[in-house]
Amino acid sequence: MARRAVCLVGIGKIAVDQHVPALSSSDAFTLACTVSRKGSVPGVPAFTSLDAALAAHPEVEVVSLCLPPVPRFDAAEAALRAGRHVMLEKPPGATLAEVHALQAMAADRGLTLYATWHSRMAQAVAPAKAWIAGKTITRAHITWREDVRKWHPGQDWVFEPGGMGVFDPGINALSILTEILPSPVHLTAATLTFPANRQTPIAAALTFSGHVTADFDWRQEGPQTWDITVDTPQGQLALRMGGNVLEIDGKAITGEAHIMGEYPALYSRMAELVAAGQSDVDLAPMIHVADALTLGRRDVTDAFHF
Ligand code: NAP
Repeated sequence: MARRAVCLVGIGKIAVDQHVPALSSSDAFTLACTVSRKGSVPGVPAFTSLDAALAAHPEVEVVSLCLPPVPRFDAAEAALRAGRHVMLEKPPGATLAEVHALQAMAADRGLTLYATWHSRMAQAVAPAKAWIAGKTITRAHITWREDVRKWHPGQDWVFEPGGMGVFDPGINALSILTEILPSPVHLTAATLTFPANRQTPIAAALTFSGHVTADFDWRQEGPQTWDITVDTPQGQLALRMGGNVLEIDGKAITGEAHIMGEYPALYSRMAELVAAGQSDVDLAPMIHVADALTLGRRDVTDAFHF
């Protein structure tokens, strides 16, 4: 089958680290062109305007958006208006309402909208979900502590309104939690820690129904922690390394720390959705973030500079 042409928009960190390699090894897609004000991919036609790229490349069926959340809506809307399927990086938008608007537009036009959650594709997530199925959860805890200077060097947008601060990585944990828990939980309390000079939190402590808690912190130097533990009467499950390593009662069951399969899996899923004429937009992780920003108690800490 001929590979479908993709236009990749926002050639920055995640586009270069993950989307370009995933597309080059894809059987389903080929990278036809890029849109970015400064970035480009060697050997691939580059544009600074999405309208110009789509006019020059009518063969493009899919627009994959790697922009930060705030500028993403306008590009998504333009792509859908131009009759192209759309793939959204996480978080799927700056607000829930704008993602609902995109869903309605895609449905009206018979186009695919895929709100991706790359962490759900981490290799130990499906086995963890299978182990948990049918068990009673007595407690669950997320520890997501990383160094923002290492993972988002100089990216001031994460601290601007809509950038979500520590929820930018924390929403990955919530995407796994909402995938593996057998029934939904809801946020009941939150404490958000804002640097004195910034608009979004650098740390968050969350409490959910069902004895579920989360600890997100962007100030962790040294070893980084992306763990979720789930207690059941039959034992404790631990998902480590961002969903890549599964342990039951402290014993490794599956996984390795650095497998790069998440983005190829996202593009395979996009190929299935386009072929089936379906969309996949699960806003559960983002609802928890919106609730934390609604319900959160505010603490102020030291100013943060990259
Ligand atoms: P980034 O490198 O800061 O931004 C991506 C590109 O978007 C930039 O290179 C820039 O390209 C364009 N851009 C930035 N701000 C813009 C604006 N205000 N208006 C228009 N274009 C703008 O960000 P990233 O780390 O790749 O993250 C992008 C998305 O991927 C985020 O939603 C993030 O959560 C998600 N993500 C990131 C990572 C990661 O490790 N960083 C991992 C997984 C998912 P031009 O200046 O060339 O236009």
